[in-house]
Amino acid sequence: MNLVHTITEDRGDNTFVVYNYYSGEVTEVRVDADKTALYEDTRSLENLPDACPFLRFDTEGKAWCTVHLTRPEICRDYCCWRLLIYDAQGRRAGRVLYQRTFVPDTAELGRLWEEEKPKLSGLTDREWDVAVIGFLTKAGYRVRQ
Ligand code: SF4
Repeated sequence: MNLVHTITEDRGDNTFVVYNYYSGEVTEVRVDADKTALYEDTRSLENLPDACPFLRFDTEGKAWCTVHLTRPEICRDYCCWRLLIYDAQGRRAGRVLYQRTFVPDTAELGRLWEEEKPKLSGLTDREWDVAVIGFLTKAGYRVRQ
């Protein structure tokens, strides 16, 4: 997304103007007040030169949009994915957005999700990830994080 979202102006106070390379959309975004420390710690992006400049990972590996409250329109429509799910033929079958928003792109994955969803209640975020990746892998899907 770094190739899509380019910071064209730093207005100070963690406020930036972002240009969308594809849509031409220009948006002013501001780092969420509760994510300032996370935004300022850029270590989690050291090996991700193509990541959106506002993406960060916390110490548990959880992904965060640090400008979530003012994120560009395209992000409101499509969102960042945290887990990307492919079927056995390598076609995209679904995504996990934010922490636990499971979005199946196929009816087959939708049915699997409805079967498995009740088993996930009460899990921590990390346990939830492990369980979801586990049932997807067992069913023949491939998960990209
Ligand atoms: S949702 Fe946030 S982190 Fe993701 S591309 Fe948009 S601005 Fe970047």
